[in-house]
Amino acid sequence: MRVLITGAAGFLGSHLAERCLEADYEVIGVDNFITGSRDNAAYLDTFAGFRLIEHDISQPLFVPDEIDGVLHFASPASPVDYLELPIQTLKVGSLGTHNALGLALAKEARFLLASTSEVYGDPMVHPQPETYWGNVNPIGPRGVYDEAKRFAEAITMAYHTYHGVEARIARIFNTYGPRMRPGDGRVVSNFIVQALRGDPLTIYGDGSQTRSFCYVKDEVEGIFRLFHSDRVEPVNIGNPNEFTIRQLADTVLEETRSSSELQTLPLPKDDPKVRQPDISVARDVLDWEPQIQLREGIQRTLPYFQAQLDKYDAKARTI
Ligand code: NAD
Ligand code: UDP
Repeated sequence: MRVLITGAAGFLGSHLAERCLEADYEVIGVDNFITGSRDNAAYLDTFAGFRLIEHDISQPLFVPDEIDGVLHFASPASPVDYLELPIQTLKVGSLGTHNALGLALAKEARFLLASTSEVYGDPMVHPQPETYWGNVNPIGPRGVYDEAKRFAEAITMAYHTYHGVEARIARIFNTYGPRMRPGDGRVVSNFIVQALRGDPLTIYGDGSQTRSFCYVKDEVEGIFRLFHSDRVEPVNIGNPNEFTIRQLADTVLEETRSSSELQTLPLPKDDPKVRQPDISVARDVLDWEPQIQLREGIQRTLPYFQAQLDKYDAKARTI
């Protein structure tokens, strides 16, 4: 098996690449490092079966090798990133998905799209089953990400229907774990870094909004199983245990034994009020459900962030 993973230097892409390498696949990573990490790429380079092509997938890509699978993970994913990179986000979700699908078609490879719970927007149905069509503001700040992913799903289904590409669509819910960038702005990385530094934990709004957090190892296992399944229609992959942002802050404070205070900041526009995956399809079709719950996942993630901060502090001392 040889698979090509776009976004392989990112958080999820690097874990997925590692999962494939562990299964003895050859992996070709494609990344332009717009939000990715050279450290992740260097780590993957230690596997004999890995090689990286530095390339912007919003531009066409020609690869001479035979390829059995194309897994399209390239896209800014943190709201902070995609608000700073709105056009690149729209392009990689649309043109990038088109190019990745074109590659899959040319190579007669299976295609998997990293879609998102954001296709449900600020949901009016709770929890969210795959049959829910969503509530997205197309011209709001989050529209650049949400609509790009909705387009990506549409073109993936069109390539399946009209060109016969074997398609899989993972609707990924909030995932966390080692290899997130400490400064990527998402809530779990922000809270852990703030708690470890003794800085205030920044709660946007009153903190009553909810998310359902999945540990990266569980998430990647679900995606890996979906890739190997026969399911064409989208599948929610996430942890259905739902927490308010305040509950998350309390859990991080307890696990880090930090005395950081809580600081309230304005809620960003169109921030979804609730989010929880209905994972009945994943349970049924993939025989999958998450094994690692929030507290344990945070315990497993802390040493990584501590090491990142130590590295940063050591560098600062040498300047
Ligand atoms: P990330 O920012 O850590 O990784 C994204 C990677 O894609 C980075 O390495 C970046 O450099 C690369 N990239 C971006 N645009 C590119 C382009 N035009 N050409 C080549 N490479 C490009 O984000 P992540 O959390 O690892 O997310 C990966 C994928 O999973 C994204 O498609 C995201 O939408 C999806 N997703 C993630 C989550 C989550 O909670 N992490 C939730 C839903 C969906
Ligand atoms: N959030 C927060 N403080 C932060 C970062 C995020 O309260 O420092 C909130 C954010 O407003 C949202 C939730 O945490 O309600 C999850 O945000 P994140 O950026 O992780 O992902 P989202 O699910 O919004 O894409």
